[in-house]
Amino acid sequence: MKLPSTSQEALAGDSGLSSLKRAKREASFKETLVKENKVNRLGIMGGTFDPIHYGHLVAAEMARSKFKLGKVLFIPSGTPPHKDRSDISPAGMRFEMIVRAIQDNHDFDISALELGRKGPSYTVDTLRVLRRTWPKHELYFITGTDALREIFSWREAEEILMMTEFIGAARPGFDASDFLLEVQREHPETQRRIHYLEVPALAISSTDIRARVKSGQPIRYLLPEPVRLFIQQHRLYTAEDNII
Ligand code: NAP
Repeated sequence: MKLPSTSQEALAGDSGLSSLKRAKREASFKETLVKENKVNRLGIMGGTFDPIHYGHLVAAEMARSKFKLGKVLFIPSGTPPHKDRSDISPAGMRFEMIVRAIQDNHDFDISALELGRKGPSYTVDTLRVLRRTWPKHELYFITGTDALREIFSWREAEEILMMTEFIGAARPGFDASDFLLEVQREHPETQRRIHYLEVPALAISSTDIRARVKSGQPIRYLLPEPVRLFIQQHRLYTAEDNII
């Protein structure tokens, strides 16, 4: 079955997967969304994922269940607009780690949509492609509350909030009250589109994992084993031959 070019764009982006793998992935993803008539909500898991860990996976699963999402599509950032590229692992490596982390879960998939873009990767551009691809689906963008707190400084923020619901996955103890008050006061029209989800597993963080690898501390059980092995094999986050 030939897929519309927009869905190829949405799932594959310009890079990341061989064309055969890409075609198979697109076909199975699209088919599941169409076949299961009840599926009309698509979760979009946006983040840098350097590396992906159990906190992200639990957040995606909790969001899927709570908001009755048919699928969750992981979209690793290419060049995040607010970050210095030299601090971040190559996009292809972050992509590969996600592939390994979600391989056993049919409710999760991955898109290389942001990876092929030149220059900063803006969420509004991503959502426009997804909107065109799945015009009948409600979109739910899932990300960390720390990122979500800055949303009104993102490019075309109000436009973004018209296109999607937002789910802020909060670390334990995160206090959202200031942000919620700001939304209520400054952007009341967007209030009902912003949701919070407390995720105890988000006590795990990518920053901590990178620091652990660097200092030779164990990371086993903080992320899926195939991801840990990938980090070890490619000596990510350390120049040393540390046993992690
Ligand atoms: P970040 O600054 O790396 O992360 C902020 C915090 O949120 C970190 O504590 C991070 O924990 C957590 N986090 C990130 N993604 C998460 C997820 N999907 N689920 C749960 N926790 C998550 O933020 P980022 O990853 O670069 O950006 C998040 C998303 O917002 C991306 O899709 C990015 O493209 C988008 N964004 C867009 C704009 C724009 O369009 N102008 C600007 C900023 C961000 P970990 O470190 O453990 O992941």
